[in-house]
Amino acid sequence: MTTLTEATYHSLIAGEAVPGTDGTLRAIDPARGTETGPEFTTLAESQADAAAQAAAEAFGTYRKLPDADRAAFLTTIAENINAAGDDIIATAMTETGLPQQRLTGELARTVNQLKMFAKLVASGDHHSVRVEPALPDRKPLPRPDLRQRKLPLGPVLVFGASNFPLAFSTAGGDTASALAAGCPVIFKAHLAHPGTGLLVARAVTEAVTAHNLPAGVFSFVYGRGTTVGQALVKHPAVKAVGFTGSRSGGTAIMATAAARPEPIPVYAEMSSINPVVVLGSAISGDSTALAEGFITSLNGSAGQLCTAPGLIFVPAGEAGDTFLSQVKTALSQAAGVTMLTPGICSSRVEGEKKLASVPGVTEVGRGTEGQTQNAPAPAVFSTDVETFLTREELSEEIFGATCLAVRYSSTEELKKLAVGIEGQLTATLHLDTEDSTDVALATELVELLELKAGRVLVNGWPTGVDVGDAIVHGGPFPATSDGRSTSVGTAAIDRFQRLVAYQNLPAALHPAPVREDNPWNVPQRTDFLSQLS
Ligand code: NAP
Repeated sequence: MTTLTEATYHSLIAGEAVPGTDGTLRAIDPARGTETGPEFTTLAESQADAAAQAAAEAFGTYRKLPDADRAAFLTTIAENINAAGDDIIATAMTETGLPQQRLTGELARTVNQLKMFAKLVASGDHHSVRVEPALPDRKPLPRPDLRQRKLPLGPVLVFGASNFPLAFSTAGGDTASALAAGCPVIFKAHLAHPGTGLLVARAVTEAVTAHNLPAGVFSFVYGRGTTVGQALVKHPAVKAVGFTGSRSGGTAIMATAAARPEPIPVYAEMSSINPVVVLGSAISGDSTALAEGFITSLNGSAGQLCTAPGLIFVPAGEAGDTFLSQVKTALSQAAGVTMLTPGICSSRVEGEKKLASVPGVTEVGRGTEGQTQNAPAPAVFSTDVETFLTREELSEEIFGATCLAVRYSSTEELKKLAVGIEGQLTATLHLDTEDSTDVALATELVELLELKAGRVLVNGWPTGVDVGDAIVHGGPFPATSDGRSTSVGTAAIDRFQRLVAYQNLPAALHPAPVREDNPWNVPQRTDFLSQLS
């Protein structure tokens, strides 16, 4: 630990340190399997209310902040995180076992995401303004003056991810997009990286103070998901939830949110095994590089990436056999990497045992165990199409560097696989784009896979998500709880906004973004339908 030199730390509710009364916890250094750093007090269920109340109070002011001021606030958060970067990275290395290089890149991504949302908010594009001026002489009926824009939903509860302690945690994508939308955030700390979370929470809290915003714009709470987390999902002041984690956690939160007297949207990113389809033309020549690329993608960050390739479709026959023997060779040179927590590691090991015990599943190859605790060897297994499609457990995510190869014998079998898989974050095709037969097949496959995945890619690996304007990191259930949305990129802001239209309001009542004189200079789509032929 670095600047966390005191013995005990607490939740930060609306800028105040609030001692929790439910006990204490410490981080585990997964590389050693030992406790590390100070203790953190955890809130009792009844203590969660203060964070929700403070967020509700802050919403009235925060939602009306001019775009330029909200953009400046987001930029200050980014700058504060950058300034504390060395401390944050050192703490995260101990708490997560992730290497410095990975965390340095992730910190940069976190900062850049915040700056991206600052730019978006400054542009005014997120208001999505549409104007239809009144047409009093229109026949048979006059048209009223109609002005549409998007409004923030209200306080958002965010559950951070274990596998991205920076870019999808305290000030990560969900928090950044919710704050950008004008929603206060209550952040349920991920208990696997409590010190990292606190350092980032301080960076956010200091920005709240520096911009004279109501303190309830941001709270950071330590508490159990099943107690404090659930209490906040139920809290009437909370209007939406962002979540990244397990399918069981995500679906439990969806159920609670749907059972509220006022149900609220839950944007949960849960499980995805990211199928990769290898067509014959991709392995008709030397496929060594393809095999090596596959294992690098599978074993990166110990396979703990939501887009890790956990399923690969390989042609039956000689070329497919050769490819898998190259996969075996690449695996033999790959070592296990420390996983995030002992619990995630044991789930991976148990999941792999269950997979290996299914009749018809065989092991293709395995790497070596890492030198640290909690660093199991990467492994690839193989089965046939019928076994895969009839054994549901073979479609379950094994979070970590485990992949199942399914050997297909015909294009019909391949199409059956594409139809048979669950919703995914990504689907990948490998082919020779000069091979007209495979291009024709790929055309059909893209039409099937686009119905299953949030992102379809060709001749690449799904790990590595480009954060920008056109990216989609989403997909049908169980990849996410709402396949209409993305949690990465500028479009992530849409999850925390809703449409409202103003009809025949006198000009004096128009909110700034829809005003005729457009004081915030936001893009306004005016009389769009009349411009269409
Ligand atoms: P998790 O167990 O689902 O926990 C994520 C967060 O949700 C934690 O803050 C947890 O709080 C909370 N939570 C869990 N169950 C809850 C419930 N029933 N009600 C309310 N809150 C609940 O996930 P994790 O520990 O981060 O990672 C474990 C597994 O998640 C992995 O093995 C993997 O399968 C999956 N995962 C998937 C992705 C992906 O993007 N697809 C990413 C990361 C992880 P507590 O810690 O207090 O329980």
